Amino acid sequence: MANATPVRVRFCPSPTGNPHVGLVRTALFNWAFARHHKGTLVFRIEDTDAARDSEESYQQLLDSMRWLGFDWDEGPEVGGPHAPYRQSQRMDLYKDVAEKLLAAGHAYRCYCTTEELDARRDAARKAGKPSGYDGKCRTVTPEQKAAYEAEGRTSIVRFRMPDEPVTFTDLVRGELTFTPENVPDYGIVRANGAPLYTLVNPVDDALMEITHVLRGEDLLSSTPRQVALYRALADIGVGNGTIPAFGHLPYVMGEGNKKLSKRDPQASLNLYRERGFLPAGLLNYLSLLGWSLAEDRDIFSMDEMVAAFDIADVNANPARFDLKKCEAINATHLRQLEVKDFIAACEPWLNAPHAPWAPEAFDRAAFEAIAPYAQTRVTVLSDITDNVDFLFLDTPVADEASWSKAMKEGSDALLRTARGKLADADWSSPEALKEAVLAAGEEHGLKLGKAQAPVRVAVTGRTVGLPLFESLEILGRDRTLSRIDAALAKLAG
Ligand code: GLU
Ligand code: ZN
Repeated sequence: MANATPVRVRFCPSPTGNPHVGLVRTALFNWAFARHHKGTLVFRIEDTDAARDSEESYQQLLDSMRWLGFDWDEGPEVGGPHAPYRQSQRMDLYKDVAEKLLAAGHAYRCYCTTEELDARRDAARKAGKPSGYDGKCRTVTPEQKAAYEAEGRTSIVRFRMPDEPVTFTDLVRGELTFTPENVPDYGIVRANGAPLYTLVNPVDDALMEITHVLRGEDLLSSTPRQVALYRALADIGVGNGTIPAFGHLPYVMGEGNKKLSKRDPQASLNLYRERGFLPAGLLNYLSLLGWSLAEDRDIFSMDEMVAAFDIADVNANPARFDLKKCEAINATHLRQLEVKDFIAACEPWLNAPHAPWAPEAFDRAAFEAIAPYAQTRVTVLSDITDNVDFLFLDTPVADEASWSKAMKEGSDALLRTARGKLADADWSSPEALKEAVLAAGEEHGLKLGKAQAPVRVAVTGRTVGLPLFESLEILGRDRTLSRIDAALAKLAG
């Protein structure tokens, strides 16, 4: 590939709401492709739909991309030779291209009213003919044009599709051919002069010299139209004549084998962020939606993905979004962190509004001592608070279900014995504390598991949690004993 054209790909979302996982997968594949080929990733904002785009969504998009750890070579905040990278700031340019397309005959003005279009479409349907635009205004004469305008008709600009089939080789799906009946002439500028997505997206790809377009399969039906438009742009000298290669990434299916929709709560990137996924864990999972590193390797880093990524390995079959697997992969990434990095990653969850304890009650040394045990148990970072709250709350959480599950007939007697033995134990290691509870259990004919359940609930408020004796040691003798006393008082109550 020594003399091959440098790779230039783009990620070009519309800022219309919370980013969703489908969008992130598209960004990831483009990013990995660019980095693998030591190419350029262009980040472009497709904000020409003033009614749907918002500044807030734009900021959220940038923030999400940064959080995920993506870097881009051209685009917002970094600039580049094709600036500006927000389409809302490029409107004059699109209008100019539309004029050139009209002048060269690649586009024409269409004066049909909505009613006329509807009536002709219905008639074509009834006659069993293709129901797309019928090309009526392709042949409007200057006299007709003047007459239409005198009538007060407005016009849109329509792109003239070629009369021959459009063929291109999809990088994922192979050669695809679309016949003219299936791809009618289409609008590129509204009657009010506003350029449409159908125009601005290919125009920018041409101007920004994009070599590869990797995007979701939902956009496949627009590709023949765009390929024809690129050819027309090359003809009128817009861009450097490169027609990008297309690769359509497979659909992502959600619950019940339906396409994962933007509105699906599972699809919202913010949800993953709020739950405390690691970007590395989430991206690792999302990379598996249509691609794999090797048959038996589900866990890898983004560096490994970049090294291995080849668009030819992307699978055309729909991918199923599996939240359980996503969580399991995230959990594995959490375990792989150095303890100090795990501690740093927990930081946002150790304070308000996530942490249920008073800020002054937080004890960093205690947290650092317990963190290695928590690290092997949490799936997402937000799980951390439930695991360690017993250390920082004045009284453990009151969970009646846990209480009634652990506190059985005779639990008071067991707790009294355990309290006595724990009071006499050597608190410098968890083993001695375990011995104390084991011995208390023996006196009451209980195995360790049964004996430790009421102790755990008395001290932590929960039936499940981190290794108990390590937890007690970190909590300390005084607080452990006073919590057992409080539980005994409640049982006596
Ligand atoms: N702004 C378009 C979208 O978000 C981009 C489509 C494309 O990648 O060509 O759907
Ligand atoms: Zn028309």
